[in-house]
Amino acid sequence: MSMAEFDLIKKYFCPENNRQDVILAAGDDCAIVDFSQNNQPNCHAVAITTDTLISGTHFPVDTSAEDIACKVLAVNLSDLAAMGADPAWVCLSLTLPEVDHHWLEAFSNQFKQILAAMNIALIGGDTTRGPLSITLQAMGFLSTGRSMQRSQAKVGDKIFVTGTLGDAAVGLYCVQNKIQDESLAACVLKLNRPQARNQFALSLVQHCDCAIDISDGLLADLGHILSASDKGAHLNLADMPVSNAVRYYFNQYGNNQIDWSMILSHGDDYELCFTVAQEEVTNAVALAETQQVKLSCIGEITEQKQLRCFDEKNKIIDFPVSGYLHF
Ligand code: ADP
Ligand code: MG
Repeated sequence: MSMAEFDLIKKYFCPENNRQDVILAAGDDCAIVDFSQNNQPNCHAVAITTDTLISGTHFPVDTSAEDIACKVLAVNLSDLAAMGADPAWVCLSLTLPEVDHHWLEAFSNQFKQILAAMNIALIGGDTTRGPLSITLQAMGFLSTGRSMQRSQAKVGDKIFVTGTLGDAAVGLYCVQNKIQDESLAACVLKLNRPQARNQFALSLVQHCDCAIDISDGLLADLGHILSASDKGAHLNLADMPVSNAVRYYFNQYGNNQIDWSMILSHGDDYELCFTVAQEEVTNAVALAETQQVKLSCIGEITEQKQLRCFDEKNKIIDFPVSGYLHF
């Protein structure tokens, strides 16, 4: 590594170490962390995930450095949330077309601000030259000895989602089509600065065995739960959580007609979709109320291995597109 690279890492990516369990962070060949420092007696497992964002593919090329920092953290932290893991450490691999101090300053300030707020340590990474691309690896404790896994849906489980769906899809549409409408600002914010559901997930894992985060659209992501669990589901469109901003968008720009395939098939919402056994439903609902997380029951897991959506008149709706295809 050249001196210039080392200076860059030192300047931008050596935040104050905010965790006792980090013995060695950036600077050596590897980071060293001490698992035994975690004071949860039941914790014997760590969840590990990684995700890459490529400029022009996962975000529009003119996305701000701050927004990219928010997004790369959210997509990874959302994966930890979906397992019920408590985020602890991240590694950051940056590929940059050039050394742009203005960009690096903005990116790293935003990045470090979120890490500090969530008590997560940056413990290493890699810095290379090339087309803009950001890879993050995130690791978190399964502090209670429990986890939520895609394969654990059971017949009769109720299907829930947090928050609202389709906001990021509308946000992307606004960004791509240069629609400037103050009433849609929340959608653009949801696209650029999604909030992973980490806090909620940490309590939810006590009452739930099966979850996924909605990165590729509800139909595709719930589809992963169904195939991993070898089950089916029925969904009620009438119960789908749609924000006022998204309703406004379809009123104003969509001939007054909600495009369900856009809402259920576009990704980037980073909400949680999870299934709960009947006897735990009251607990899950109470938890969401306590934490002021919007929760909607959208359907049920079925023996019949199909994903069927019913409209308000109980008519089955077919959706041609199902989720974001990477290839
Ligand atoms: P190596 O030659 O062993 O791959 P590098 O020269 O890539 O090491 O990195 C030197 C040190 O700086 C390592 O400890 C690495 O984890 C850290 N590092 C490199 N890039 C970043 C980054 N973007 N953020 C945080 N730490 C980084
Ligand atoms: Mg390296």
